[in-house]
Amino acid sequence: MMDLTILAKYPFLNNSREYIKKNGPSVKDLLESLVYERARIIGIERLDNAFKNRDVGERSLATETDCIMELLSYPIARMIAVCVGDNFFKRRYALGEAYHAYKNLINEQTSFLIKVSKEFNLNVKYAEENKRIKIHFKDYLRNAPTRYKEWKMINRDMEKGYIYVSHKELARLLEEALRRKINKDLDSRECDETIYKVFSSEISRFQNMVMIHRKKMRTTPIGKLSVEKLPPCIKNLLSAIQAGENVPHMGRFAVVAFLNSLKLSVDEIMKIFSSAPDYEEDKTRYQVEHITGSISSTSYSPLGCEKMRTYGICPEEQIDEICKKIRHPLNYYYRKWRQKEKEEKTSTKEETGL
Ligand code: SF4
Repeated sequence: MMDLTILAKYPFLNNSREYIKKNGPSVKDLLESLVYERARIIGIERLDNAFKNRDVGERSLATETDCIMELLSYPIARMIAVCVGDNFFKRRYALGEAYHAYKNLINEQTSFLIKVSKEFNLNVKYAEENKRIKIHFKDYLRNAPTRYKEWKMINRDMEKGYIYVSHKELARLLEEALRRKINKDLDSRECDETIYKVFSSEISRFQNMVMIHRKKMRTTPIGKLSVEKLPPCIKNLLSAIQAGENVPHMGRFAVVAFLNSLKLSVDEIMKIFSSAPDYEEDKTRYQVEHITGSISSTSYSPLGCEKMRTYGICPEEQIDEICKKIRHPLNYYYRKWRQKEKEEKTSTKEETGL
């Protein structure tokens, strides 16, 4: 069995789960007993931190009690997240757990990272001959942020189906694998009635937070952009970026080129990307400036509907009446704009009787 500090730092590991099963309190005690009040408070703190800071946060693990409370707070946070019943909230929470784990993993021994990789079913090996870490290319592709130049396959050393990665890069790949694992786990669970009753006021508070956030997203003008007039494809990609999901390169390209066509400045576009989990200002700026033509002679045109479909970024189940009449996402935006203007004119005429 691993030591308690490790279990508390990585509560998603099998060993941590087994520890709780063997030594933890009953669900009733965990939810009601005063002894575990601190675990409940930390559980809520994890969710608050994940939502606001994209990181579940760091607490002292100096004593055995600290570690036990930290460890028990994880299932509590997970159960509450399920009961909040909102995908955006769940995604943010998963991201907060995964990002925090990444920050811890960087400081562990490589052998520990390889152990965690095995638990996540990633084919990772330590090559004794050259003392390097390698990962099977399929697992690499599933988890690497390949939208960044240095992560692209073309820029990697590959040997017999394995790609060499550094310790820090393996931690980053584990972050993504964990994020997906938590997302899947949250999506497969139903809200437990008892949890709902015990945490009803916190659950309502979180639901309220999500509602306010959504409202702000809908109404906050990004430069000259009217979010409510965006086509479903761009809306989806934007909310995935802002929820911290790993949006493929083509999705990001489509968003930048689209926003650039609407004359948003590089800084305004950067603001949108700044909520991505692994946002790195320099690299993002380089990509945005490249696509918008600020540092090259070419400014790329936004993708049409057909291309969006080919790349799998047109959400076909969400297309509406306007989508059916147009062949380019930009036209969707302009049509909505004209539609709104018409509606406003009609209502002014009605009000003034002219
Ligand atoms: S049909 Fe075109 S505008 Fe509508 S969601 Fe698909 S890509 Fe976007």
